[in-house]
Amino acid sequence: TEEILLKSEKVSLIGDLAAGIAHEIRNPLTSIGGLVQLIDESEPEKNDFYKEIILTEINRINFIVSELMVLAKPHAVYFSWFNIEDSIQNVIDLMQPEANLRNVMFTFDNKENITKIYGEKNQLTQVIINMIKNAMEALPTGGTIQLSAVQNNGRIVLSIRDNGIGMSDEQKKRLGEPFYTTKFNGTGLGLMVCFKIIQNHKGTIEIDSELNAGTTIKITLPIHTANSTERVKVDKNLM
Ligand code: ADP
Ligand code: MG
Repeated sequence: TEEILLKSEKVSLIGDLAAGIAHEIRNPLTSIGGLVQLIDESEPEKNDFYKEIILTEINRINFIVSELMVLAKPHAVYFSWFNIEDSIQNVIDLMQPEANLRNVMFTFDNKENITKIYGEKNQLTQVIINMIKNAMEALPTGGTIQLSAVQNNGRIVLSIRDNGIGMSDEQKKRLGEPFYTTKFNGTGLGLMVCFKIIQNHKGTIEIDSELNAGTTIKITLPIHTANSTERVKVDKNLM
């Protein structure tokens, strides 16, 4: 297997991102526009069908926008000390019902007794959610997702491993590109958001993947971000 280190430059391609957003949002808008014109008061049965598609398209725009919100200047970026093992366990608990439906099993040895990490808890939780979601989606007939968190030399290494469909070299090259997805209903924003968040924490993401064998994501984070004091912004509304 080949290991690639993803470069942070990829996330600063603002022009590509803007073009992608415009495209991704225009598609559902065009379809909504067309459907609205088809609505005809004399044919209520057909109208219910059109309305349903319109709602689906609106939900898609909403979903894309909410994923992008993480990249926007956040309202309240609040770095604090917290236990990342607890966050991982919370995400597992949250996703357990869906995992059961998909025949996916989690393993997480929650006994490393990691000291706390200084970071943006909501954002790092979002990274764990996005990575576990991808792992689940890589297991169409079920499988195992192994999670671990280990502390070493002032750093915490999180690992998310699945024995799923894996990725080709071609796919790996494109990871982190905004809107790059191989899924019918994907947005291709999840990983880009993860890269951005981990970059904000001065960490790194390594992806090791083999087609039809599985994928391992390794996230390395400093326990205490170097310039963390500069980054602490407290939303006045929360005080
Ligand atoms: P999305 O999940 O909406 O497709 P992401 O940015 O989360 O967008 O992922 C981009 C692409 O990276 C996916 O479409 C998939 O091809 C690939 N990918 C990410 N994680 C995995 C994984 N664990 N196993 C296989 N492929 C993955
Ligand atoms: Mg995803």
